[in-house]
Amino acid sequence: MPEAKQDTKKIASFLLQEIDRLITKPVRLMEVCGTHTVAIFRAGIRQVLPSQVELVSGPGCPVCVTADEYMDMAIAYAKRQDVIIATFGDMLKVPGSTSSLGEAKANGADIRIVYSPLESLEIAANHPDKKIIFLAVGFETTAPTAAATVLSADEKKLKNFFVLSAHKLVPPALKTLLADPEVKVDGFILPGHVCAITGEEPFQFLPEQYHMPAVVAGFEPLDILQTVYLLAKQIHDGKPNVENEYKRIVKKNGNPVARQMLAEVYEPVDAIWRGIGPIPNSGLRVKERYQAFDAEVALPIEVETTVKQTACRCGEVLRGLIKPTECRLFGKACLPEHPIGACMVSVEGSCAAWYKYGSGRYQYGTGNN
Ligand code: SF4
Repeated sequence: MPEAKQDTKKIASFLLQEIDRLITKPVRLMEVCGTHTVAIFRAGIRQVLPSQVELVSGPGCPVCVTADEYMDMAIAYAKRQDVIIATFGDMLKVPGSTSSLGEAKANGADIRIVYSPLESLEIAANHPDKKIIFLAVGFETTAPTAAATVLSADEKKLKNFFVLSAHKLVPPALKTLLADPEVKVDGFILPGHVCAITGEEPFQFLPEQYHMPAVVAGFEPLDILQTVYLLAKQIHDGKPNVENEYKRIVKKNGNPVARQMLAEVYEPVDAIWRGIGPIPNSGLRVKERYQAFDAEVALPIEVETTVKQTACRCGEVLRGLIKPTECRLFGKACLPEHPIGACMVSVEGSCAAWYKYGSGRYQYGTGNN
């Protein structure tokens, strides 16, 4: 066996022994990043952790938390003859209250898949007779690129480019989870990509106000084990803190340039999270200075969202109250090919990750979680 691989095995085995020694009662640790959810499954972390440690997924997938109301508005814009929607591919399958963007596209709406918001500017330049609306979805990680796109559109004096913002901020969501008596969490595995922008400071409220351990984590298997070890140590010592396991990427004060761009274009606003509801100051809207690029302001549209009754339990999945396999639609009526709820849409959605990597193999709270 190559030396590096042997070293990795030795470190992993040491960390697991230490976690086992430090954790003397059952604990629940929540990851709030879809990339962590997938990384944990891929590396088989649940299978190797001591039985006392339960890993639960939180609201860490931006597509999953995008509300019906937003999707209905996007679909309404898509149906307009003078509009081209530019969006990441995942959004096509996200259900609105009565249909999806995928259905709108099948019925003739002009919806283009982009890999970066900047591509929308090219579409705008090539179609001066159309209004190009970029669906700006994502956490602090992706919002700076959308902000940069608005700044670039402003510089180019584009008159036919708009964003429909559904950006979300992670810290207010964690506050809301902690205020929910049903949610039981003993520590947070913090999202490395988000923290690369925000830095550690926005998460300091976790130990200071809630006595809650938190560790910024990377995405390699050893990063995650090291993070669980650091959380176990904080819990064992009764000294909650925000620690940074991902120092090779995440600086203490994050990325000031990206944050400055965000602050230039966006401001916090109350936002609705699918399955959780409204959370104060948890979204981003375009500031007045750039409102000519805000679809909701520049192209107002009336949309009625139908309240639908469905057996989808995404809300409970996103709060870590149930595992996806406890939803009776999981793997039956609800599949990645035809998702009933948003958690089955993106590969980073909890239900989709459970379906792809863990269906039926892992159980929360059984020692094989
Ligand atoms: S399996 Fe499908 S229906 Fe059930 S909670 Fe997940 S997304 Fe919703």
